[in-house]
Amino acid sequence: MPTLFERILQGELPATFLYRDEHVAAFRDIHPRAPTHILIVPNKPIRTANDVTSQDEALLGHMFVVASQIAAKEGIASDGYRLIVNCNAHGGQEVYHLHMHLLGGKPLGPMVSV
Ligand code: AMP
Repeated sequence: MPTLFERILQGELPATFLYRDEHVAAFRDIHPRAPTHILIVPNKPIRTANDVTSQDEALLGHMFVVASQIAAKEGIASDGYRLIVNCNAHGGQEVYHLHMHLLGGKPLGPMVSV
């Protein structure tokens, strides 16, 4: 069963894409939690952060490079932003296809609520 994000990547579901290459895609989150809320998603479906291996190191580094390039294009780089990867239930992961949230456009407050 393909993940929601695989279906987006395959064009079966709509998304607002900002970037695509042979390794990753980036599109706007459908329920933005900040003025800028973008998801950077590997084309390869990795379930969670627990499932990354040393073979994924280049891919994971590439996700950071793409995130920083998009942050610059969105005009949020100098003010700053937050990159988040949620893992499993305690991390609040909803979609089991590894992804990085890029959030910014306003002060984001404390890192976690207590
Ligand atoms: P996470 O909780 O880290 O798994 O984040 C999943 C994110 O996917 C949430 O922020 C959702 O708002 C977002 N999301 C769910 N469905 C879609 C969709 N169809 N297009 C874009 N973002 C989505």
